[in-house]
Amino acid sequence: MSERLQKVMAHAGVASRRKAETLITTGHVKVNGKVVKELGTKVTANDEIKVDEVPISKETPVYYLLYKPRGVITAVSDDKHRKTVVDLLKEVPERIYPVGRLDYDTSGLLLLTNDGELDNHLTHPKYEVEKTYVAKVKGIVTNDDMKQLRTGIRIDGRKTASAKANVIRTNNNSSIVALTIHEGRNHQVKKMFMALNHPVEKLSRESYGFLNLDGLQPGDYRPLKPHEVEELK
Ligand code: URA
Repeated sequence: MSERLQKVMAHAGVASRRKAETLITTGHVKVNGKVVKELGTKVTANDEIKVDEVPISKETPVYYLLYKPRGVITAVSDDKHRKTVVDLLKEVPERIYPVGRLDYDTSGLLLLTNDGELDNHLTHPKYEVEKTYVAKVKGIVTNDDMKQLRTGIRIDGRKTASAKANVIRTNNNSSIVALTIHEGRNHQVKKMFMALNHPVEKLSRESYGFLNLDGLQPGDYRPLKPHEVEELK
């Protein structure tokens, strides 16, 4: 039976299907020794597929929840030799990678897996999961700021979807706000607060769908329970 190359790569735990497509079109993938850049390419179980010269193999899917500390990059490797989230899960033998990303200076809940299909599902705008962030921002947020956070703010030329926002605390010159969004735009939370003239000083992702950080300290991780994996799918 033949299947599309990007689907086989995703099943093998190389990357999500969309990331597999990028790997193909940018010339990282060889089939039987030849670079293949065509997305429609069909392959069979007999074809030898290599990504950056490493043969792909079918791994058992694994799923981990990490409490990402600040000062760690959400990537598999880094040109500047900064510590990556994958470095924090060194004991995991499978080739895992992060689902979505948290900024270098953001802490909180991050999933890692080798299941490209789940990654594809969770990061697809159609299925975007609710994520709750707690942001410490400069200045005192007003009722009008909160209303704008809830109804949508124009960032990068496009309004954000409706969100939940609650003030947790304010003091002389800063506010702590919980913000629940279901989109995953680049630096979204920081940009939303920046648009209101309240730059983010500290950001943490407290929950991802029904998952939270209960019982974990920054740097800790745990495997997801089978029922949690089922619920995410
Ligand atoms: N929004 C941001 O601005 N940064 C993150 O890390 C996550 C969401």
